[in-house]
Amino acid sequence: MQKIQVIEKKKKKMKQKRKTHAALKSIDSLMVDMPFANTDIGDDSVITSASEKNIKKKRKRNTGREKEDSKTMKKNKKQSQPNYFISLPITNPKIIGGIQALQDIIVQKDHRLSKAMVRYGSLHITLLVMHLSTEEEVGIAVGAFLESKDSIEELLQGKQLDLSFQGIDDFKNEVGFVKLAEGDCTAMLMEISETMKKIFQEKGILAGENRAFKPHLTFMKLSKSPDLRKQVKKIDPNLYKNFKSHYFGNETLHRLDLCSMLKKKQPNGYYHCESSITVSEKNGAEPDDAELVSLSKRLVENAVLKAVQQYLEETQNKTRQTDGSPVKTEDATSGNRNESDSDNRK
Ligand code: AMP
Repeated sequence: MQKIQVIEKKKKKMKQKRKTHAALKSIDSLMVDMPFANTDIGDDSVITSASEKNIKKKRKRNTGREKEDSKTMKKNKKQSQPNYFISLPITNPKIIGGIQALQDIIVQKDHRLSKAMVRYGSLHITLLVMHLSTEEEVGIAVGAFLESKDSIEELLQGKQLDLSFQGIDDFKNEVGFVKLAEGDCTAMLMEISETMKKIFQEKGILAGENRAFKPHLTFMKLSKSPDLRKQVKKIDPNLYKNFKSHYFGNETLHRLDLCSMLKKKQPNGYYHCESSITVSEKNGAEPDDAELVSLSKRLVENAVLKAVQQYLEETQNKTRQTDGSPVKTEDATSGNRNESDSDNRK
């Protein structure tokens, strides 16, 4: 009798084990369907709604515990999705004009794609994405951002970072971007991005992605419009083949912004900025060519003026000495000179 009970118990245990195994398998397949770090907030509405459909289908088969697991995963995913980023704004009219021409040509060929186009006011290079969940965290991020200025200046060592934009590429035929010509400048940009990532992470901020940073200038992305994404699954590279190796222009790094992906954009079309830093600023110790020319011109003018004044005073004194009129003292003349110098500066 006891033996039968033991066998029954063993059978029950085996059954439970099989159930648990099946449940775990099901969670694994759910995880494959869920888009985690590979999406930005723009993609989110599209990808989340697609995955929600899959989740719904599978939920029917799920047990209560699985439901809880998938809920937690969804919550965690939302909580860590990027909602802020560091932007290098594109301001060179030549680049903006080139992108405008490129977008016009694409839209002429396929009108539906107008919804995918990035507006001129918001063209930028993303250097780093992060998730900030409270205003307090935004404050910490602003602190980290301002702190990173010195490290960037140190990396640049007083040199300007001139980025060259040429050719087009895409991410999975879903995002179209202008490429940065590879070389020292893109390597430096990657170093800047990495340095900033470290500074933000040291402050406890969830910054950076799993994938390697690839600098790019996005001009279109299907994720801008969920409706479009339903109609167009892939961007046809033939649409931009004439621009495949087009040179768009150069952009010098002068400013970086800490921007929100979600807050209302500015009237000029650019993102809401929490903070901005300027780098490679001109300072007194390192004047540029124009400043040097104007400075030396002013020095020469002053020297010539002083020499002429001195000559005039000396000849005046000589004349007075010969015709018997009183001689001016050095003190009195120097006082006059100073006055005329200050007039000259005005
Ligand atoms: P952005 O230029 O930052 O607006 O990014 C445009 C889109 O490209 C976003 O949906 C990013 O998730 C995606 N993206 C950025 N970098 C990569 C990468 N290295 N590989 C694939 N997709 C990327």
